Order: sequence, then structure tokens, then C-alpha cells
Amino acid sequence: MTRESKRDRSGKEASVQDLVRSCYRSGGYVFASKAEDISEKYGTTRIARLASNENPRSPPERAIEQGCRALADANRYPDETMRSLTKALRLYHGNDYSFVTGVGMDGVIETLTRTLVDPGDGVAISTPTFSFYRLAALAQAAQVVEIPRGPDFSVDPELFVRKAGKVKISFLCSPNNPTGTVTPIPDIEHILTHIDGILFLDCAYVEFSDTDYRPLMQEYTNLVIGRTMSKVFALAGARVGYAFVPSWLAPFYLRASTPFVLNAISAQAAIGALEERSFVDETIAHARYWRKRYEDEIKYPVFPSGANFVMVDVAPFTGDEMVALLAEQGVIVRSCASFTGLANKYIRVSIGLDRENEQFLAAINSI
Ligand SMILES: *Cc1c(COP(=O)(O)O)cnc(C)c1O
Repeated sequence: MTRESKRDRSGKEASVQDLVRSCYRSGGYVFASKAEDISEKYGTTRIARLASNENPRSPPERAIEQGCRALADANRYPDETMRSLTKALRLYHGNDYSFVTGVGMDGVIETLTRTLVDPGDGVAISTPTFSFYRLAALAQAAQVVEIPRGPDFSVDPELFVRKAGKVKISFLCSPNNPTGTVTPIPDIEHILTHIDGILFLDCAYVEFSDTDYRPLMQEYTNLVIGRTMSKVFALAGARVGYAFVPSWLAPFYLRASTPFVLNAISAQAAIGALEERSFVDETIAHARYWRKRYEDEIKYPVFPSGANFVMVDVAPFTGDEMVALLAEQGVIVRSCASFTGLANKYIRVSIGLDRENEQFLAAINSI
């Protein structure tokens, strides 16, 4: 019995919860364990936080400076089209692109799904993958079509087209979370030329890979590329995401989004981060160095990854068992048990600071 219901004078406490839509009665996003909870539970103070694919460094100096400065003007509403941020994005990526922005790429996914999907419309998802596509689709009462990846987690473009040919929007993540798999450009082009709807290509980790999908924006009007400031730019807490969109789509997206979608402080922090290119280069070099060491030194099989994390097959342990064993040694990683379409024998490990990665390698190789 909750505290509110004791005080409830409406007499409707049994029925009010039925007001909640069925898609929100259970499930939801799975969050990583908190460092404080692990150190409390195991009495360890040396914690390696390797569960959320964050950048372990503090944000770029310019991001901090410009974000702080923007706070001084926060009495005014921000520009609703995020003109200064989109200008900074064009400076960073090139003048030929159109952008939309959102509260994290998650916010972009949510708004774009709301822009396109009516109840009962089809939404296709290449699985196993990031869970938020499904949550965003179900929120619009969409019909979700899953397209399973192969045994090596590659995408079969023919199967993709067969299953997603008629849906409004399809989600494909490359490098894929949690497997790390990169989908080759010709496979993406095959999909783009054979589907009727939009392909949302989630490139949250693309900076860590050798693949650049951006030139495809010049040739296809049904491609959206999602990007984020949360990973390589170290601004996960600022919640800034954006997407390359075909120019026809931007005005519709703005109509569907909440009026002032992104706050001015985060937007200025993002602009500062985009101006500090050396930070990005250093982050990528660090990730590539450690990705190689993870592949070479972890004693369990590691899947090839284009991201700042790897997926590890930890059989005969389950993912959940390995997470618990590593937590005893102060290492927080992610079990892949909650990803639909994936057996419970995988963990996902981010690349952290040198000290954290050494701690993880010693811990996993002792188990
Ligand atoms: C982290 C992540 C995102 C987006 O993160 P935001 O913080 O919302 O920008 C999107 N897709 C994938 C696959 C991710 O791992």
C-alpha cells in the first residue's frame, strides 16, 4: 500500500492505474548498475565503470566553458531550430547536409517515430540490438517486425528487404550495439534501393569504426543517419543527439517535436565540443588501442567490433553470472541477457580509462 493511497479520498485507487497505457504496464529501458551500489555491496572503492559505453574522460574544455557561459543567458528561450548548433554541425561535417537535433539520439528516435508512425503501421528492427527502437515504436502502437541477424551478427540485406520492404521506418545500428558489428556500405545501399520506407541508420559509435556512411546522404532521400554527442564527444549527461536528414523531412520533424526540444546550455556545450577536434582524435586512438588489446588478451571469444566496446562470449557462464563475478572485483559490465534474440552467454564491455581496462582484463582472465 503506497503512502498516497492511504491519503486518497477519491475512492478510485483500484481503478486509476488502469488509466496507464498497456505498453507502459511492464518492461522499459534497462539501465546499468550504479558505481555507488557496487562499491557499497562489495566494499570495493576501486570501481571500473565499463557498462554504458560512455567516454571515461571529462568533456572537452571548450564544451565546459561554452556550456557554463550559456547558463548566463538562460532567462531566454533557445532558438527553436537550434540554428547555432546546426551551423556548427555543418562546419564539422560539411555544408551539404540537413540536420535535426534532439534530447540525445534517443530523443531524435522518439520524435522521428512520432513524425512518421500511426497506430498499426509497421516498424522493422534488425535484432539483437539497442532496445530503445522497440520502445519508441510501441509507444506509437506500431506493429514491430524483427529481422534477425545471422550467426556472426551480420545483416542479411535480402532478408532485410523481404521483411522491411513495406514498413514506414526500419532501424539498423552500425556499429551495432551490443555486438559491435559494422554493416558494409554496399549492403546499406541494397536496402535503401529496395525498401519503400525510411532507413534509420544508428551511427552512435561510427567515429570509432573505419566506415563513413555520410556520402550516402547525397544519393538517397530515404536515409536518416542518427548521431550523438554522448559517446566520442563525452557529453552523455548533456543529452544532445542529432541526425542527418534528407532536406524534405526537417520541417515535418520540427512540427512533431516539442517546441523547444533542446536546452541552450547543452546546445552550447555541444558546439564547444565540435570545435575541439583533438579531443575526438585522442578518444578514437585510445579506443582503437584498447579494442585490439581486448581482442588479443581476453581469454574468452571476442566479436570483431567497430565501436568503443566489445561483446564477449563468456560460456560456460551466463552473462548474468559473469556480471556478478566481475562486480565482486569492482568491475561493472553489461550482461546481454536482456537483448531480444541473444542467448544468455554474452557480456558487453566498454573501453574505459587505462586503469579500468587493466582491472577488467585481470579480473576476467582470473575467472
Ligand atoms: C548510446 C546510444 C544511443 C544514443 O544515446 P543518446 O545518449 O540518447 O544520444 C543511440 N543508439 C545507440 C545504439 C546507443 O548505444
